Amino acid sequence: MVHFVGAGPGAADLITVRGQALLAAADVIIYAGSLVNPEHLKLAREGCRIYDSASMTLEEVIAVIKQAEAQGLTTVRLHTGDPSIYGAIREQMDLLAQAGICYDVTPGVSSFCGAAAALKAEYTLPDVSQTVIITRMAGRTPVPEKEEIAKLAAHEATMAIFLSTGLLEPLSAELMRGGYAADTPAAIVYKATWPEERVFYGTVETLPQIARENSITKTALILVGRFLGDSYQRSKLYDPSFTHEFREASETCK
Ligand code: SAH
Repeated sequence: MVHFVGAGPGAADLITVRGQALLAAADVIIYAGSLVNPEHLKLAREGCRIYDSASMTLEEVIAVIKQAEAQGLTTVRLHTGDPSIYGAIREQMDLLAQAGICYDVTPGVSSFCGAAAALKAEYTLPDVSQTVIITRMAGRTPVPEKEEIAKLAAHEATMAIFLSTGLLEPLSAELMRGGYAADTPAAIVYKATWPEERVFYGTVETLPQIARENSITKTALILVGRFLGDSYQRSKLYDPSFTHEFREASETCK
């Protein structure tokens, strides 16, 4: 059996209880060493075989898993954040299915949620944005043309941009070309929830400069949108004059 587990965004206590139990019971752990907090490995039981996938190919990862399976061992494949976001798990799952190996997935706290916590922000503010766009700049990994940043920026929705800290000049230009005003609030969150977490506020236009001045080149998320601003409408859910399934509007408001 193979368990894909989301390790969470960084802080060792932000993995799920289920993820922790699976780690503690694993015979083999293959973890994404470039971003997973090594603290998680302290949970491994004695004799557990531990592999860092940072220097491995897909084929090498699958070979380790197949060998474990042949010996009747349980493997945890530990991914950063939530495995469904830029986790490259589909290609692993497909090869496991082909080999007749069973697997399941345990979610994790994605770094975009860790970043919101660092910012103490709400991505979906009434009357500001009710949509979060998770995307990245095209780099060595291409992005479908229909999803280019300028096209997504035209919505002026909240954006959480992964894997793009090294491309902030073109990112900033594309965001503005797409529709965001130069002074739209933006933030860079470096290593959200890690002890070395840092948060920088600026605008769409100043993103490259902020990163340069603070030597931020990787392990950061770019957050863009007016959710970082000051104006929004109150929610309907907690509005005294609003009736819903669980609460009647108060008499004075009817
Ligand atoms: N599956 C992960 C994302 C992996 S892609 C998740 O759900 O978070 C790797 C990218 O995620 C990094 O380049 C960076 O943009 C972002 N990232 C991962 N951990 C981060 C953290 N703690 N703080 C800020 N960005 C992070």
